[in-house]
Amino acid sequence: MKRILVTGGAGFIGSHLCKQLLQEGHEVLCLDNYFTGSKEHIVDLLANPYFELIRHDITEPFYAEVDEIYNLACPASPVHYQYNPIKTIKTSVMGAINMLGLAKRVKVKILQASTSEVYGDPAVHPQPESYWGHVNPIGPRSCYDEGKRCAETLFMDYHTQNGVAIKIARIFNTYGPHMNINDGRVVSNFIVQALRGEPLTIFGDGSQTRSFQYVDDLIHGLTRLMGTEAQVTGPINLGNPQECTMLQLAQTILELTGSASRLVFQPLPQDDPQQRRPDISRAKALLQGWEPQIDLQEGLRETITYFESVLRRDL
Ligand code: NAD
Ligand code: UDP
Ligand code: UDP
Repeated sequence: MKRILVTGGAGFIGSHLCKQLLQEGHEVLCLDNYFTGSKEHIVDLLANPYFELIRHDITEPFYAEVDEIYNLACPASPVHYQYNPIKTIKTSVMGAINMLGLAKRVKVKILQASTSEVYGDPAVHPQPESYWGHVNPIGPRSCYDEGKRCAETLFMDYHTQNGVAIKIARIFNTYGPHMNINDGRVVSNFIVQALRGEPLTIFGDGSQTRSFQYVDDLIHGLTRLMGTEAQVTGPINLGNPQECTMLQLAQTILELTGSASRLVFQPLPQDDPQQRRPDISRAKALLQGWEPQIDLQEGLRETITYFESVLRRDL
């Protein structure tokens, strides 16, 4: 049994990770400042004596004796990370320094939740880990993209300079239960709009693409990546290569919910990436054949069921 620290553990992905680690028999320290996370996502875990919840902001130092660290703390939805951009970049950069300082002191492995946003609006498609990206350093998305890029640099430098064992997961768009109703990302927006009979808000003409991964597939990828040997240090893409346009996504959600909602077109946000799809050959080769098992239709059905129950409860 390990004692594992999960920062951002009360968030969407973090709550699933905490649950999985407890199921595997570990003790979990969940650290969160509740900016976008919520106790609601982890309420079922609170009765477990091996689960400990700590209100803490990772831009401040944190001292504990742990065996492993997953660093997930950071708002991930454009609406939330742009609300206070300076805080977002502090969370990525100062948060990484503090968590790496902790990993260095207690001599443990640390995994960084990086992102496909390090590729920006990519000129190479699909995106392999070797692509350096196409990122605007002074735009509305920069606090997130550049913060995450700087965090990757810090992880690599703590590894080479201080011998810290590191893992970097470049996570592509992930969705599933425990996204907040007001998360603002496209999957939860469309599902909630469809279930409420409100128009689905398509930004731009809806021809931009994303590749959506169901959260369970990501969690398996993250725990496998953490389990890899010391020489696996460089970034690894974790995503589902099934690519679709936002119009196709809207259509699929309308079909699966049986909703009669119409589509409304709104301006495309500045620097919105036009296309995105992971090249996952490296993950498949290094993570014992890991690849996503849950296709978009199946994952959306699970997510729709989740939001139906949340909306019923909120009535
Ligand atoms: P989320 O917003 O649901 O969760 C982030 C969590 O971090 C929240 O619980 C929030 O309260 C907490 N947090 C934010 N700032 C903090 C701080 N300074 N100190 C302590 N806690 C803080 O987002 P998510 O989708 O679960 O994303 C989790 C991680 O995965 C993030 O680092 C994100 O960048 C990364 N990621 C997610 C996706 C995706 O599609 N969901 C894609 C790429 C990368
Ligand atoms: N740190 C932390 N917890 C620890 C050890 C370090 O939060 O258990 C923080 C510490 O406050 C420091 C940062 O991590 O600001 C980086 O630590 P490092 O040892 O790399 O740098 P230094 O302390 O020499 O600045
Ligand atoms: N998007 C949309 N309607 C919404 C929210 C998002 O059309 O209500 C678009 C957005 O412009 C982007 C895509 O959906 O092209 C994915 O957006 P999201 O915020 O989910 O993730 P990211 O842009 O960070 O990949």
